[in-house]
Amino acid sequence: MSTARITTRFAPSPTGELHLGNARTALFSWLFARHHGGRFVLRIEDTDTERSKESYTTALMADLAWMGLAWDAGPPYLSNPSDGGEYRQSRRGAVYARHSATLDASGLTYPCYCTPLELELSRKSQLAAGRPPRYAGTCRELSAEARVRKSAQGVSPTTRFRVPTGKFVEFDDMVHGAQRFATDDIGDFILRRADGSAAFFFSNAIDDAEMGITHVLRGEDHLTNTPRQLLVLEALGLRAPTYGHLSLLVGADGAPLSKRHGATSVREFRERGYLPTALTNHLFRLGHSSGENGVLPLDVMARHFTVKHLGRAPARFEESQLNVWQREVAHHLPMEESERWLSAETPADIDTDRRRAFIAAIRPNVLLPKDVARWREVVFGPSPALEGDALARVREAGPQFFQAAAQAAAADPSLDSIVSAVKAATGAKGQALWKPLRLALTGTPEGPELAPLLKAMAGASIHERLNRFAA
Ligand code: GLU
Ligand code: ZN
Repeated sequence: MSTARITTRFAPSPTGELHLGNARTALFSWLFARHHGGRFVLRIEDTDTERSKESYTTALMADLAWMGLAWDAGPPYLSNPSDGGEYRQSRRGAVYARHSATLDASGLTYPCYCTPLELELSRKSQLAAGRPPRYAGTCRELSAEARVRKSAQGVSPTTRFRVPTGKFVEFDDMVHGAQRFATDDIGDFILRRADGSAAFFFSNAIDDAEMGITHVLRGEDHLTNTPRQLLVLEALGLRAPTYGHLSLLVGADGAPLSKRHGATSVREFRERGYLPTALTNHLFRLGHSSGENGVLPLDVMARHFTVKHLGRAPARFEESQLNVWQREVAHHLPMEESERWLSAETPADIDTDRRRAFIAAIRPNVLLPKDVARWREVVFGPSPALEGDALARVREAGPQFFQAAAQAAAADPSLDSIVSAVKAATGAKGQALWKPLRLALTGTPEGPELAPLLKAMAGASIHERLNRFAA
């Protein structure tokens, strides 16, 4: 058993918004580290200079922070955003060059002069022959003169790794178990692009070793990259992490999660007012079976997280399921947090007590902040117009009913006071009592409980809503 401190990492490429699949990878990596009292590293894989954007890096840090996933090492959040160069691959060229030189010196690499067109033709002919396509090894044994000639023609070569022949790469995946890949199925792959920059297989593996990463959790799409990375690490005498490849995230229809399933980025859910605890609780159950029911804070999740409970089957993200968590989390949110959560949707010109009364009254009817608008209109808007059945229902109760109600409201606009007065004056009870009151006061037959709702409403408004049916 190694004594190295357990260290995990999240290594996003900042080429787009943080989507749910990667958010889950980040969460699981964080939980794994926390479970073992280890470290969690954030590394920005921004080697693709065309597609990487600083704004995506900033945004994904904001998303991670929002989810509560603090990193122990990585670019600092909310300071100079371009800091933390040692955790940005775009600034680690010297590190890759050093390791690359070591491989060059041991004869484990060679320059490849094949053009994209040549590579494509080779790929097609292999496919046509029914063979899985891989690099044909064209430049593997090129003579020194041939290399000089090619270079003289102005072709900048890529650098390929010389994959050993007739061997097997074996490793134990934390999710998928024992893996065995024949090196003969792996073509010599590119370590450095023609411009000298490090390719993914290379920089990713080097950095895991250099940053002391002991365990890597990442998407299943990287499973077949792993033997290549292990070959590179072995050739360099670097320590390989233990890998675990997480099952794919699919939508409710079983297809890989994509735009056509609706919102798929963390930012979209944040902007709609989903609460981070709701999202992390849903993600925690995606591909990780847990006997723990109910909403768990992150530290408790960490206690229960174990790779043994990671499944191989695709995990299904369903907004309806997320909504179950959202309802649960929103329902138990402390008042101050609710106020913050809904602040943009509550009227600006009311005092704190009334705001709190309003939020307390409507919260059971609110899944997302957008649901507030309807009740804001009901409580703070003009007296709601009634028509059709609703109007008939109110008229049926009669003027005497509303005279008593309005008179009571003028003195004390609480539900108790109004109800006692109406009962005393008319003897109405049950539906005959509640329906006309609710309709006159809110304009709708269903909604939040009346007593708390009236605490949020202005007394004058309550009086007016009742009094208009008193004649
Ligand atoms: N930058 C890679 C990605 O986002 C990282 C893969 C890995 O975690 O090793 O897919
Ligand atoms: Zn070649």
